[in-house]
Amino acid sequence: MNTVDNANPIPKHLPQNLIRLAELSQNLWWSWTLEARQLFEQIDPTLWYFTHHNPVRLLQEVKPERLQELAHDPVFVRFYSAVMKRFDEYRLGNGTWYGKTYGHPKSPSIAYFSAEFGLHTSIPIYSGGLGILAGDHCKEASDLGVPLVGIGFMYPQGYFRQRITPEGWQEAAYAPFNREESPIRPALTPSGTPCKITVVMGHRTVAAQVWRVEVGRIVLYLIDTDVPENNPENRALSARLYGGDQEIRLCQEILLGIGGVRMLRELGINPTVFHANEGHSAFLTLERIREFVQKGSTHAEASELVRQSTVFTTHTPVPAGHDVFPYYLMDRYFTGYWEQLGLSREEFLRLGETPESRGQGFNMTALAMNLAAHVNGVSREHGRVSREMWQHHWPGLATDLIPIKSVTNGIHAPTWIGPDMSQLYGKFIGPDWAERCDEQTQWQRVSDIPDSQLWAVRQHMKRRLMGFIRERARTGWINGHLQSSQVIARGTLLDPEALTIGFARRFATYKRATLLFSDLERLKRLLQNHWRPVQLVFAGKAHPADEPGRYFIHEVVNFCNDHKLGGHVAFLEDYDMHMAKFLVQGVDVWLNTPRFPLEASGTSGMKAALNGVINCSVLDGWWKEGYNGANGWGIDPLPPSTDQHEQDVHDAEELYRLLEQEIVPLYYQRDLDGTPRGWLQMVKECIRTIAPQFCTKRMVKDYVETMYSKAAVRTPSSW
Ligand SMILES: *Cc1c(COP(=O)(O)O)cnc(C)c1O
Repeated sequence: MNTVDNANPIPKHLPQNLIRLAELSQNLWWSWTLEARQLFEQIDPTLWYFTHHNPVRLLQEVKPERLQELAHDPVFVRFYSAVMKRFDEYRLGNGTWYGKTYGHPKSPSIAYFSAEFGLHTSIPIYSGGLGILAGDHCKEASDLGVPLVGIGFMYPQGYFRQRITPEGWQEAAYAPFNREESPIRPALTPSGTPCKITVVMGHRTVAAQVWRVEVGRIVLYLIDTDVPENNPENRALSARLYGGDQEIRLCQEILLGIGGVRMLRELGINPTVFHANEGHSAFLTLERIREFVQKGSTHAEASELVRQSTVFTTHTPVPAGHDVFPYYLMDRYFTGYWEQLGLSREEFLRLGETPESRGQGFNMTALAMNLAAHVNGVSREHGRVSREMWQHHWPGLATDLIPIKSVTNGIHAPTWIGPDMSQLYGKFIGPDWAERCDEQTQWQRVSDIPDSQLWAVRQHMKRRLMGFIRERARTGWINGHLQSSQVIARGTLLDPEALTIGFARRFATYKRATLLFSDLERLKRLLQNHWRPVQLVFAGKAHPADEPGRYFIHEVVNFCNDHKLGGHVAFLEDYDMHMAKFLVQGVDVWLNTPRFPLEASGTSGMKAALNGVINCSVLDGWWKEGYNGANGWGIDPLPPSTDQHEQDVHDAEELYRLLEQEIVPLYYQRDLDGTPRGWLQMVKECIRTIAPQFCTKRMVKDYVETMYSKAAVRTPSSW
């Protein structure tokens, strides 16, 4: 079917009649297909657990005798054949939504650029929500048959691993990650040679090699500068995600944008639409202008062609959140380049400016705004905030006419659903519930789920989380990484019967992880109530350079160590996608306390809702449009102009009130058989209203209908 399969290494000892397990382990389709996951798990459940669900490692490490045993087990072999049949049918891609609506494309026509992709724990090239969104976007594009390719970075050291010292401080550890243990293979050009590119940037000539990751039907290409042709400085360019200084970051962005376009040409891929997920990849617009100018267009013609075929998604609601590079760095790396675009230095630098930011550096978001005709924010509220923020860019235009749309984020349901919940939906909503995730009507059937079964599954997922937490602590204690005093702070005293509130995300200060601790006496009364106890589970990394964020972690960890809080507060170390799944499936309430209006969208609350975990959140980002008064709890924020301290006091007060008067009483209000009917009523309302609206099926369809199809129209057919 495709020649690159030849590059898949086959682990030795793999029996002939199970040989395609190797191929299956190299396509991330397995990661969102329950049967494929179960197939790998059955090979060796213990090894599956200890490899953090990594089938590539599992196949390398499993005992040959075990594989022989399975090769002779008719039940396993039959299951294997059934999964492989589904895999083959999936890859053929007959009858997908995109195919039915737009015809079956012969080659990829949408290039999706992102600095990070969160696909699976075994590929640590993401830091948080932006990357997870990109990963979910690719998976859904695959499911819907959208002809998309992803372009990103292979960071040989990935994002940092978090360690918490006994004193409660975050330490960042970088470890080279082993590609042999990930589904990452060299990408080949159409003539079958390894794909390599060279980018001249100022005084540097940087070579890079390209890797590929199969995500169902689509391919993600990753640029890697760690090649022998480069000097040590250039080799290290792509070493870490968000790990370098401003100059390294600029070089990374040149590689992603300009190198990314060159890489596509090397691979023989000629997309009609270029989608920049956040401003990091916005240099792609320049490279495409350069191509058109080289073919004889004037700068104005080239720039209009590029504008019409570029989609830009902005993710930050504050100007300071955008990359701005000083002019001396732009001179260092772009001297000689702007002439090729048909521009003078001044004209070139103006591309990275807004009328109001003259002379303040080269702003990547401004570049993207200038050269993309199709721009969107990631929630309705964020679209509105972005229109206000960028109003100066369109002088004289009324705010509501500013051409920035919104496509609210979503999550890839098969990735984030808990296995038991998925089975429950299969039974009561329909076996193909996930394929029809965005259909409102099917979700009405949530009311058919008997309370007793829903509660049993919810409790089961909570016990799985507690088991995960305990095993983590045990492993840390055994290998000497945790002292015994830290074991409690890692959540070993948590009780599966108690109301459990989860808070896990990047520790950026605007997310206010410590808001709940602002009145300690009041919190203690909530946690320590013998009849109606409450417990809190925290997780998340702060960017190593974010001192206030690191301080927040220190504060939370100190509370976990405080015996007066009775082991009811836990901080889990090294938050990643794997842990996120346990958390969003296992807690009762998902808490989010961003300072309004700084949460552009947020997605973790959507993952929680899909699993029947109720949101309690400031009405910001996605929750402002998701909350309906009956499907969770909303904290109405004060206007952003209010003094920050006043906002914090107000939001904390409202949060305590909700917990004391609504959340805790509802959870502990039980029938004679112990079922919390009122609670489950809200769980059902939450699933019914949120699952269809905030899934990637709705989101990617929105992107295709309101952005990609508009962008593709006016591009010359030769591209
Ligand atoms: C979903 C997810 C995020 C995003 O969380 P928000 O609360 O939306 O910011 C970050 N990190 C991981 C590992 C996730 O799975």
